[in-house]
Amino acid sequence: MSAIEKKPVFKPNKEFAKTARIKNMCEYQDLQDEATEDYEGFWGRFAKEKLDWIEPFTNVMDESKFPFVKWFEGGKLNVSAQCIDRHLDTRKNKAAIIFEGDRGDKQIVTYLELYYNVNRFANLLKNEFGVKKGDRVVIYMPMIPEAAYAMLACARIGAIHSIVFGGFSAEALKDRIEDADAKVVITADGAYRKDKPYMLKPVVDAALEGDTPVKKVLVVERNNEDITWVAGRDYSYNELIKSQEVHCEPEVMDSEDPLFLLYTSGSTGKPKGVQHNSAGYILWAQMTMEWVFDVKENDTYWCTADVGWITGHTYIVYGPLAMGATTVMFEGVPTYPDAGRPWKMVEEYKINQFYTAPTAIRVLHKMGENEPAKYDLSSLKVLGTVGEPIDPPAWKWYYEEVGNSKCAIVDTYWQTETGGHIVSPLPGATPIKPACATFPVPGIMAEVLDPETGEKVGAGESGYMCVTRPWPSMIRGVWGDEERFVKSYFGDVKKDGKPVYFTGDGANYDEDGYITITGRTDDVINVSGHRMGTAEVEAAIKKHSNVAEVAVVGKPHELKGEGIFAYVVLKSDKGVADEVEEVKAINNIIKKEIGNIAICDDMVFAPGLPKTRSGKIMRRILRSIAKGESITQDISTLEDPSIVEKIENMVKSK
Ligand code: ATP
Ligand code: MG
Repeated sequence: MSAIEKKPVFKPNKEFAKTARIKNMCEYQDLQDEATEDYEGFWGRFAKEKLDWIEPFTNVMDESKFPFVKWFEGGKLNVSAQCIDRHLDTRKNKAAIIFEGDRGDKQIVTYLELYYNVNRFANLLKNEFGVKKGDRVVIYMPMIPEAAYAMLACARIGAIHSIVFGGFSAEALKDRIEDADAKVVITADGAYRKDKPYMLKPVVDAALEGDTPVKKVLVVERNNEDITWVAGRDYSYNELIKSQEVHCEPEVMDSEDPLFLLYTSGSTGKPKGVQHNSAGYILWAQMTMEWVFDVKENDTYWCTADVGWITGHTYIVYGPLAMGATTVMFEGVPTYPDAGRPWKMVEEYKINQFYTAPTAIRVLHKMGENEPAKYDLSSLKVLGTVGEPIDPPAWKWYYEEVGNSKCAIVDTYWQTETGGHIVSPLPGATPIKPACATFPVPGIMAEVLDPETGEKVGAGESGYMCVTRPWPSMIRGVWGDEERFVKSYFGDVKKDGKPVYFTGDGANYDEDGYITITGRTDDVINVSGHRMGTAEVEAAIKKHSNVAEVAVVGKPHELKGEGIFAYVVLKSDKGVADEVEEVKAINNIIKKEIGNIAICDDMVFAPGLPKTRSGKIMRRILRSIAKGESITQDISTLEDPSIVEKIENMVKSK
């Protein structure tokens, strides 16, 4: 569509670059060249360097049954030992986890304490519940250290964990338990949010009504509110843990033994049980921690995600602990008691790397524009974002007000399925551009391809974000559904006649070869033969000063094929004075930014947007509303399901 906007470039901080692991673009290129020239040599080298093997692997990669690929065959290891045991010689008194509760309660867990806690937990699961290697264990927990212990305890005994985000409904939890055929659920009575207790256990009770594969439920007592205990099924962690031994021999695992399942959030369809295996996953979790966040021995690192998402798996628990870092876990919400909470924590713990989602940045910006200035944020070195394209105004605020114009912003692009980052700036090397994921992380053969020809697209052209060679932390399967795995990821794009991994996202290169992610390809609207990404139209609408949020979708149109339907949320304090004028003003901006072709056919001023708990807009619901269809999708996983009916009524009464 429109020519790509020329973005300003921000060079890495020189002082920072001096000691960074990857110091400049030459070093970056050397790594990429090494991987290109000898792919298996590259990965074999790092697998030997970074992991502690019980038995060495004999083969780096076997892709003879592509897309079913095996990495580091013959190798034996245990992921919990990678994350804990091997640090005990040098880091036993170092903080592994710093926990801050919603109410400000704090806990520091050293590596030695982590070892004891995880080993006791592992013994409990093994000896009291009879959990064995390969069994599935569902974890439905708040953001407390026991969630991390539970994950690592499963890894220690070879059980496959499947975390279900604590905000999901009983129905969503039930589906995931059944799909994974889990025999144990680990949960908590509840936890605290905004200084008030909230409950999880009743949701588990509801999910287990009727037929269920679950035999035992382990309950961590966090808020000590009243809950129901089912005799013979429910057990108190706080009680059982007391008598457990502090040593538990780690199960010897094959490189390709499954480590966990994680169901995707479902913004594009029925959730899939994404499977990750042991060696390849933990290797890439550690390598990207080191390269992308450049965490040093004495640093304190904070990722604000929830362990219920892949970001929480890889970048709160597995990645930081595999490299022996100090990771912060936070139970509360970033805007409570006020929108300065994260900055207060940065000051207090002298956080060096801070990683969050654009949706959180937007909220913190909107609710507390001047909050960062009230705190000493000088410890910050690297800021990260993940989850969706970040819009330039939010980026600017993050860069200037939070990062004091001296921190690199790493816009990390990846997915549940990729296990770790695949496209991202490196903070000491990459000259960054706002809202741009920049280049593939070394070793990852990520390319923007033309879906028709499979050729790499040229500067200014859009294409499909693909990875042309398997990499160690690539999804190994969709639990129980081989066909869906192959069809979902390897069906759409072929390069040189061979299927490649397709992410489902669109992207483009600019004149300097920088990659910008433009959003999901099924969010492309085709107006009179012109294809445009919803993100592009949304970015234009957001330039209007009164617009807080917007989502656009396509709607069948007699003449144009598809028309554009925009759902606009205005800034709360201003409201809408004159709807007609507002629509005109917004369309004028679109005209200027993109052209007449992108002018909206319909626009409603909505009270909010239907979002998943991870903050992503569920456009498929908005598409149905725009078409006047009744909603058949499961909306129970939405942050606020009631918003759907409100928007439906607004559209109907238009
Ligand atoms: P589902 O697959 O069920 O629809 P989901 O894709 O939202 O859920 P995740 O794996 O958590 O689940 O999210 C990955 C997606 O998030 C990517 O495919 C991409 O669309 C988006 N994304 C992640 N990071 C970025 C980023 N830095 N820039 C742009 N988009 C991003
Ligand atoms: Mg996805």
